Amino acid sequence: MPGGVNSPVRAFKAVGGDPVFIARGHGAYLDDVDGKTYLDFVGAWGPMILGHAHPAVIRAVSEAAGRGIAFGAPTEAENQLALAIREVMPAIEKVRLVNSGTEAVMSAIRLARAFTGRTHVIKFIGCYHGHADSLLVKAGSGVATLGLPDSPGVPAEVVRMTLPVAFNDPAAVSAAFAAHPNAIAAVLLEPVVGNAGVIPPAPGFLEQLRRICSEQGALLIFDEVMTGFRVARGGAQGRFGVQPDLTCLAKIVGGGVPCGAYGGRAEILGQIAPEGPVYQAGTMSGNPLATAAGLVTLAELGRPGVYERLEALGAALEAGLVEAARGAGVPLRVQRVGSMLTAFFTELPVTDWESARLADTERFARFHRAMLDRGVYLPPSQFESWFLSTAHTEAEIGRTVEAAGQAFRAI
Ligand SMILES: *Cc1c(COP(=O)(O)O)cnc(C)c1O
Repeated sequence: MPGGVNSPVRAFKAVGGDPVFIARGHGAYLDDVDGKTYLDFVGAWGPMILGHAHPAVIRAVSEAAGRGIAFGAPTEAENQLALAIREVMPAIEKVRLVNSGTEAVMSAIRLARAFTGRTHVIKFIGCYHGHADSLLVKAGSGVATLGLPDSPGVPAEVVRMTLPVAFNDPAAVSAAFAAHPNAIAAVLLEPVVGNAGVIPPAPGFLEQLRRICSEQGALLIFDEVMTGFRVARGGAQGRFGVQPDLTCLAKIVGGGVPCGAYGGRAEILGQIAPEGPVYQAGTMSGNPLATAAGLVTLAELGRPGVYERLEALGAALEAGLVEAARGAGVPLRVQRVGSMLTAFFTELPVTDWESARLADTERFARFHRAMLDRGVYLPPSQFESWFLSTAHTEAEIGRTVEAAGQAFRAI
């Protein structure tokens, strides 16, 4: 396997050393193949919001497997998951299930181009939207971590139609529209950036994008693959009260089983085959294991107080890290939205990729190793989000803050 891994972010290239090989997960913890236990803040990069091996999820997936693993034909659970998504995200009137976030965004872009009859897409530097050709332009996540923002193998003709601008910069968006009149099909963004580390939208930014898109006849696409069911039950669109035309989902929507979705206004989704002419298909789409895990996960997240608790845990972790860093004299900027956060080794606020990249990645690498030594498993990159789950408790936050205090002094 290239680099020994099946996805680049799993390698420890940016922090040094070898990746930890996982034998099993339970609640907020991971056990590696050598028998060492870690407190997990990666959560499979977002999906495991209920923690690992949650009994209700295991039961639902086991029962679904017992009834047959795949049919390539409609099932009731697909309807139920579609309804569950629509219930918490009213901007999604119609939805199509797919198998990954990459597929969801790739398909949403095709749909936006078909619906508007336009070709260009505005994206934001440092946002990651999967590995489709047109979106590997100034991207975040692993490409940013490895310093490969523009991948070889992507034709220049394709890149020409992607217009990267700075996050939180509405003037740059307006300028791109002015420079490409009637050519821009969509503005695509992570409404809260997670893939450059956590960067919240500046107050009014999402509203400004909504207004610009409506004025210009372009579609506003929220890539909520990470933020959906994470920053609020209704995602970032629920938390900030801004309705996109199209929404992309994955990660939590499949409860840890491969699953994605894209949805939005009925007149737009009605363009997708077999209802309309825009082709998009998938042998495994909406498969029974994914719909079972997704349905039970969304149901658990609907219990009263879940998001309040995640918010409180996140706030406690943020406050603890800030305090521990101050005590150790380490410049640290903790940025958080709900249960996703990044501790940037910098003093300045991080508002876009240019400010994120100023963080001290060498220091982060030392911190990562020091935390690993203390049994805390963090994402192996400065430019990724940490995730909390409902399986984390105040005790685990306390332990993490204590470990961080020691680690800050050691680095
Ligand atoms: C993870 C992620 C993707 C890609 O999803 P995959 O399932 O890995 O293809 C796309 N967009 C965002 C915002 C993500 O966080």
